[in-house]
Amino acid sequence: MKNRVVSGYRPSGRLHLGHYHGNLKNMVALQETRECFFFVADWHALTTDYRDTSRLGEYTTEMVLDWLAAGLDPEKCTIYRQSDIRDIPELVLYFGMILSLGELERCPTYKEQLRELDARVVNTYGFLGYPVLMAADILVVQAEHVPVGEDQLPHLELTREIARRFNSLYGSLFPEPQPILSEATKIPGTDGRKMSKSYGNWIGLEEEPEEIRAKVRKMITDPARKRRADLGHPEVCSVFQMYRAYPGDPDLEVLARMCRAAEIGCTDCKDELAARVAAELALFRERRAGLAEKREIVDEILTEGAKRVSPIADQTLAEARRMMRIGEL
Ligand code: SF4
Repeated sequence: MKNRVVSGYRPSGRLHLGHYHGNLKNMVALQETRECFFFVADWHALTTDYRDTSRLGEYTTEMVLDWLAAGLDPEKCTIYRQSDIRDIPELVLYFGMILSLGELERCPTYKEQLRELDARVVNTYGFLGYPVLMAADILVVQAEHVPVGEDQLPHLELTREIARRFNSLYGSLFPEPQPILSEATKIPGTDGRKMSKSYGNWIGLEEEPEEIRAKVRKMITDPARKRRADLGHPEVCSVFQMYRAYPGDPDLEVLARMCRAAEIGCTDCKDELAARVAAELALFRERRAGLAEKREIVDEILTEGAKRVSPIADQTLAEARRMMRIGEL
C-alpha cells in the first residue's frame, strides 16, 4: 500500500518560485509514488487575512490552476478544499483541549511572524492556533508523511506531539507523520529574505522572461561588490543562493570562482540566472495559458476531491468521538 501524504497551501493568489521549489515541485513528483492529498487551505488564509475575504474564491481558483499547470494531475492525486471537510474544526476543538498555550507560544514561526507582520492584526486566537489547525488537516486523513520546508518542521513536530498525546490519552488512533524535506527548501526573495507574498519580494510562476529579468536585476547581491572590479563573495549573495535551484552551464563551482575573481559582473550573473528561471518556467506558462479558458474545471476537481476525502475524515472523527466518549449516554 502506498504511504499517504498530505500537503496544503493558503490560497493567496498566484504562486511564486518560493512555493515551486519549497514544495510544489516535490508534490508533482510525489503523486507518482504515493497516495497524495493536496488541499487549498482557505481556513488557514483567515489566520492572517480575515478582514477582507472577498478574493478567497478567486485566489482558490488561481492557485488550483497553477497547481495543474505545474503538473499536478487529479487522476494521480486528490485535490480538495479544506473548508469542504467539516470534520476538521471538530478535530481542532479536541486537539485544542489537550495542548498547552505555552507549546503554541514557543513555536519559532509564531514569534517570527509576530515580529514580521502587523502584531495588531495577527495577535488573535486563530493565529496562535494555526499549528493546531495544521495538525487537524494532517491527522484527519491519517497522513503518514508531510512534505514541508524547514521552517515548518516545528509545526510538524507539534502535530506529532498532538498525535502522541491523543493516542496516550484515548487510545491509538493517529500515525506520527514524518516530514519529507524538499531539496531546495529556501528560495531567497528579491530583497534577500525568504520569498513570501507577505514580504512583497516574490517572482511569480506566470511571469514573462522580461519581468523575471527585471526582478532578478533588483536582487540584493554581495554588498562588497560595488564596482565590476571588486572581488565577490558568493556565499553571502542571494543571487548565488538562487542559482542552487537552477543548475546549468557554467556550474555553481565555476560561477563562484568567477565571482570571487571578478571575472563576471553582477548584471551578467543575474541575467544568466533570469534566463535559467524563465526557461524552467516555459512549460508552466504554456500550460497555464491553456487553462485560463477552462476555469470551471476547478469546481469539478474540488467537488470530486471532497467526495474522496470526506468518508476518510468522517471515519477518523467517528473513531475520535468514540475513543473520547463524546456523545455517550
Ligand atoms: S557575480 Fe553573481 S554571485 Fe557574485 S555577487 Fe554578483 S550576483 Fe552575486
